[in-house]
Amino acid sequence: MNIHEYQAKAVLAQYGVAVPQGKVAFTVEEAVEVARELGGKAVVKAQIHAGGRGKAGGVKLARSLEEVEESSRALLGKVLVTHQTGPAGKVVKRLLIEQLTDIKKEYYIGLVLDRAIGRIVMMASAEGGMEIEEVAAKTPEKIFREQIDPATGLIPFQARNLAFQIGIPSELVNKAVKFMMALYAAFVDKDCSIAEINPLVVTGDGNVLALDAKLNFDDNSLYRQPQIQELRDLDEEDPKETEATKFGLTYIALDGNIGCMVNGAGLAMATMDTIKYYGGEPANFLDVGGGATEEKVTEAFKIILSDKNVKGILVNIFGGIMKCDIIANGVIAAARQIGLDKPLVVRLEGTNVDLGKKILNESELNIVAADSLADAAQKMVALV
Ligand code: ADP
Ligand code: MG
Repeated sequence: MNIHEYQAKAVLAQYGVAVPQGKVAFTVEEAVEVARELGGKAVVKAQIHAGGRGKAGGVKLARSLEEVEESSRALLGKVLVTHQTGPAGKVVKRLLIEQLTDIKKEYYIGLVLDRAIGRIVMMASAEGGMEIEEVAAKTPEKIFREQIDPATGLIPFQARNLAFQIGIPSELVNKAVKFMMALYAAFVDKDCSIAEINPLVVTGDGNVLALDAKLNFDDNSLYRQPQIQELRDLDEEDPKETEATKFGLTYIALDGNIGCMVNGAGLAMATMDTIKYYGGEPANFLDVGGGATEEKVTEAFKIILSDKNVKGILVNIFGGIMKCDIIANGVIAAARQIGLDKPLVVRLEGTNVDLGKKILNESELNIVAADSLADAAQKMVALV
């Protein structure tokens, strides 16, 4: 799960991470009011779940209340297209009105879980403000890393090492170390999957601040993070994906025209690969989970079909926990209930597979039963 910059800064501040003063505003009037509290000058920042706002005109420096008003009016309700939003962009509904900071230099600090070594890694670079992916591709030697032992957590020595490597002025190294230690504490305590401060800045008056903040959270831990759950902004999420989570389905929208209904994430990935192998394009990733019940299958059909690009659906279900005949009956009942009028190819494997296929073949619905995943993918690609 993602949250907005202003929310991330509030969470980080609880752990002692230094951030500029600022507040969220939903209207132009609120924006002007916050700027007045800040002394008139402010930065007006569009709050969307995407980076790259600066280059796209989503971060505006305002030197007076009039300029704050003008910038807020220009941004609120506007569709902002950045390199991270995709061509459709995102509508700006909230602004962060923040203290105008006197930047001396911009740096980068990030925390991610490195799955290859099973540890959290802190990354730091003097190339702040730029896209870190670009730095990593062109000048990887400019990114420094410290692997963190979960038993000890981030050790001050490691933070100091990074601070020296990226050239934080020596009189500010202690502040930078305190910053990194606090960032790490927040990351672990809040079950983050990514924390990215880009830029971290050194200011003219000798402070070390997070000028931008991005936090991602592990969805599997949200049950124990009530404070984070409250920060969820459904406006920023694909409504189909939100609907899917209500029914315990994992759905990710994609650009193709073949809807996929599969049980198990690994099988879903293999299904998408096979469709692509035979020249098709999957419209989604969808994992209905182990118990592919009629209710879940019905909801899954509805969600897949609400995508107007879908021209056919490939069902690939392994009957392990659930027997194939029960799944076949569930698929038929669900297809009937929603009046499915698109081609449907079903591949079943597992317990009672022959009975399952017989049920599919004998139904009056337009269902093609396939013998293997390869067979199913080829039939589906031919149909769409
Ligand atoms: P994004 O990463 O989406 O482009 P940032 O929050 O990183 O958005 O802002 C982009 C740039 O705008 C920063 O690199 C910084 O130069 C400038 N900026 C952002 N916030 C402030 C601020 N409070 N004071 C001064 N400059 C700022
Ligand atoms: Mg940024």
